Amino acid sequence: MPAGNLSFHVSGGGDAAGIEWLFRAMGGAGRMINCAGFLERSGVNGPGLRAVVWVQGCPIGCQGCFNRDMWSFAKKCLVHEEELAERILAIPGIAGVTFSGGEPFCQAAPLAALAKTVRESGRSVVTFSGYPAEKLLSSRRKDWRALLQQTDLLVAGPFVRERRTQSSLCASANQQILSLSERIAPGIGGGEEGTGVEFTITSGGEVVTTGFPERAILSCGRRCT
Ligand code: SF4
Repeated sequence: MPAGNLSFHVSGGGDAAGIEWLFRAMGGAGRMINCAGFLERSGVNGPGLRAVVWVQGCPIGCQGCFNRDMWSFAKKCLVHEEELAERILAIPGIAGVTFSGGEPFCQAAPLAALAKTVRESGRSVVTFSGYPAEKLLSSRRKDWRALLQQTDLLVAGPFVRERRTQSSLCASANQQILSLSERIAPGIGGGEEGTGVEFTITSGGEVVTTGFPERAILSCGRRCT
């Protein structure tokens, strides 16, 4: 379990190939989220202090991705979106939640449900994706559209090693930052806010490293070890 500060309820049963088929076919397994990690508070994954959910599974395969352990769609930690929402809403003082990975749009349906609950509480949602913004925004997939509707700030595009940067929420200069609601103003995320490097020692004694310079050193900065 990568991040030691969330008590996941892991569902048993199912072989890896079966779980992979399920997640690819359904855009996430119904209301269950296959998590790679979780952090209650981060100051380097978007504006303000934010909870971060790293999802397991990414089909994009960027050259130079250091998070190859998050490529597999095999079951890691399955948690119900309502349970995760309850946990996030109980964290005092956070501005919202950030979805990273892995590829959040491969689990768009349960993440959209989670995001809706978080947003109804007045908090905001930041979603990272390795898919280009134009592909996401032009898609007619219901689950993708649902997640976009519940996303306030979208950071989109594959990681391109030759164009890596540390100056914004983007891991490489080709990526785009789009404000999709008035909750996070345009321009937020394009500067230094919500960037930097962060080390968190969890209650279980694990060190969670996230943010910059990971986005340069570890390629996509979505590491949760
Ligand atoms: S850099 Fe991100 S989007 Fe690209 S393969 Fe790695 S996890 Fe997937």
